Amino acid sequence: MMRIGSIIGGEERNDRNRETLAVKNPYNGEVVAEIVLAGEEELDDAVKSSLSVFKNTMKMMPAYERARILAKAAELLEEQKEDFAEIIVQEAGKPIKHSWAEIMRSIQILRYASELSKHLTGEVLQMEADVRGSDRLGFVKRVPVGVVAAITPFNFPLNLSLHKIAPAIAAGNTVVFKPAEKTPVSAYKLVNLFEEAGLPDGVINLVLGTGETVGRALVTHKDVHKITFTGSLAVGKMIRETAGFKKVTMELGSNSPNLIFEDADLDQAVESLLTAAFAFSGQVCVSAQRIYVHEDVYDKFLGKFVEAARKLKIGDPRDEETDIGPMIEAAAAKRAKEWIEEARSQGAVIETGGELDGNTLSPTIITEVEKGMKVVTDEAFAPLVSVMPFKTEEEAVNRTNDSIYGLQAGVFTKDIDRAFRVAESLEMGGVWINESSAYRQDNYPYGGVKQSGLGREGVKYAMDEMTEIKFIGVKLAK
Ligand code: NAD
Repeated sequence: MMRIGSIIGGEERNDRNRETLAVKNPYNGEVVAEIVLAGEEELDDAVKSSLSVFKNTMKMMPAYERARILAKAAELLEEQKEDFAEIIVQEAGKPIKHSWAEIMRSIQILRYASELSKHLTGEVLQMEADVRGSDRLGFVKRVPVGVVAAITPFNFPLNLSLHKIAPAIAAGNTVVFKPAEKTPVSAYKLVNLFEEAGLPDGVINLVLGTGETVGRALVTHKDVHKITFTGSLAVGKMIRETAGFKKVTMELGSNSPNLIFEDADLDQAVESLLTAAFAFSGQVCVSAQRIYVHEDVYDKFLGKFVEAARKLKIGDPRDEETDIGPMIEAAAAKRAKEWIEEARSQGAVIETGGELDGNTLSPTIITEVEKGMKVVTDEAFAPLVSVMPFKTEEEAVNRTNDSIYGLQAGVFTKDIDRAFRVAESLEMGGVWINESSAYRQDNYPYGGVKQSGLGREGVKYAMDEMTEIKFIGVKLAK
């Protein structure tokens, strides 16, 4: 049995007498590891260590050294990719093919961060723009914020952690890392990998504990300068209310829309929306949850989509052939099933799926839905998607925008004018044309408007948010 503890200042806190929490494989219930739960005392030690290492080590570490460590970490992750893929399958129940994809993206994040750490530039101001400024020089620099609190969810345990850790290091910060309780093993392995890559002790302090205790204490700690959080809207709201003057980035939820116009390539739309709606059982923040289809092609699209969904292979996430594995826990699967039954009782039609077997919910396509049903209005975070017909472009845009969320959308059409017109009108952080809402590359600005979030990730953009702008002026002698 693997027993793991927090890593603070390079030392693992693995005290025998402490309370532990079992990490269970969502597919078969096997215990993957036990984590020694940190409390507020360890959290305080972690922040102290991060602050001291920031002041005494990280602030002085040159960009070429940060770049070297990040590149080495990428190389090590490439070497250890089998181990990491295996652990993501076990702790998250993510099908192996999607776990591989996550690791390939994670390696790239480290490479982007390595490259970008050498390009943290500022500007020289034109001081003589002011009538008093002719004998003055003005410089704008980007400086690290200091201690970054990184709080992450279970669904992309490696990728989303690296979206915080890699830019934080690239920009010269230190990190207190609080991963999701359900997926701490990949986090633990990642911190060890950085140590192997030559990152000094205490640049990342790992705190394994619950959101309620260490998460909360981290958010309110006086020596934390920035919080970068990915997770649910409910927790995001709480963090925003208690963070005080700290800088905050929030990557929250969505009920992502996709629009299919009558001229779209339907086969292409079906193929990309199948992955978008059902990959990792819909437990993806930009998972396709609402599909609006022009009435002329509605029946044709729905027929093809249902047929394709029925062919998805449900099973053991370890199996290379598996498309659909378990949801993260029984409670999540039960909640999704209840939403489906509630919609059915309110008049919705379940075209396919809706069957629950253990923690696994079969891919579910719902029609005849009404505004206000949970399956369309709230974030489902489950393998369920609603398909709805529309008549006009204006109606499709209005219904898409009628949501508290605004993360990413997909628009399928061959008409370039319409594509851009619709992209401009959608209240979203990002819009894809002829690609689904669920596609993400790790180098573009990613984040939400409305209640989907605040700020942006994507390595360069996260670095912007993890640095302060500092002005330095010089008055020259006459
Ligand atoms: P969650 O909000 O339950 O937990 C996320 C993290 O917050 C965990 O580490 C948890 O321990 C911690 N936490 C819980 N309570 C806390 C508190 N009071 N103070 C501080 N930290 C606390 O989310 P989850 O179930 O792990 O993940 C699913 C959610 O994440 C979905 O809503 C999904 O849309 C969202 N998400 C968003 C993005 C994005 O980029 N926008 C990406 C992935 C997931």
